[in-house]
Amino acid sequence: TSGRQKLIVANWKMNMSLQTITSFVEKLTLAHVRSDVVICPSFPYLFPLSELIQKFNCDVELGAQDLHWNESGAYTGEVSAKMLLEADCHYVLIGHSERRDSGETDEMISKKVKQAISSGLKPILCVGESQGQRQIGKTAEVIRKQVLLALEGIEDISSLVIAYEPVWAIGTGLSATPEQAQSVHQLIRKTIDVQYGSISESIPLLYGGSVKPENASGLSAMTDIDGALVGGASLDAESFAAIIRGF
Ligand code: PEP
Repeated sequence: TSGRQKLIVANWKMNMSLQTITSFVEKLTLAHVRSDVVICPSFPYLFPLSELIQKFNCDVELGAQDLHWNESGAYTGEVSAKMLLEADCHYVLIGHSERRDSGETDEMISKKVKQAISSGLKPILCVGESQGQRQIGKTAEVIRKQVLLALEGIEDISSLVIAYEPVWAIGTGLSATPEQAQSVHQLIRKTIDVQYGSISESIPLLYGGSVKPENASGLSAMTDIDGALVGGASLDAESFAAIIRGF
């Protein structure tokens, strides 16, 4: 009803192997998926995955799990936006809770979002409250702050995607209910609207946190849920295809 195209993103985290990515692409191609689909593998698999996608003529795009905010230089272990573009990436996850946990700050996240946008990569900005923050009623405040700090100083958000991932739902098997997720998605859209106006209506808002084939269609039915960011269940091609079909 929103007119926004559904977007389903796989976050493989530090999983998979050269062998398993091959059978994954083969199976996903056979499943004839329709929505916009993005796969975010670890960096070493971007090139082989790009070749597999072409070989099987599989209708998916590539995303990275992180990038650095500088263009190049003495940053051992880091990967630049330009390298990701050369590796055929169109998307990049930014500010995943597992990276925030290992010291990524709102300021670093904001620099990464800026770098992604100015380089032509679509940022998938991840935000989410912890269990403790939800329990003391701080969810709205935390989410609004994460969104606004990440977008500080950014004027053009036309390529932005936001993923709402409550930390307590990631990898726990305990998904947010469709109503809980919808209420935060509505808040995110409102926050964007106040700052940027009607473009908020076209920003894809994804839900992430224990999305499975069983809960996909319930989440998808919500007005402001435009897709999913899937961790664990994206490692298996059949489960991932079932989630795509559910949305
Ligand atoms: C994630 O980490 O992005 C995620 C949503 O993980 P899971 O689906 O395993 O909860």
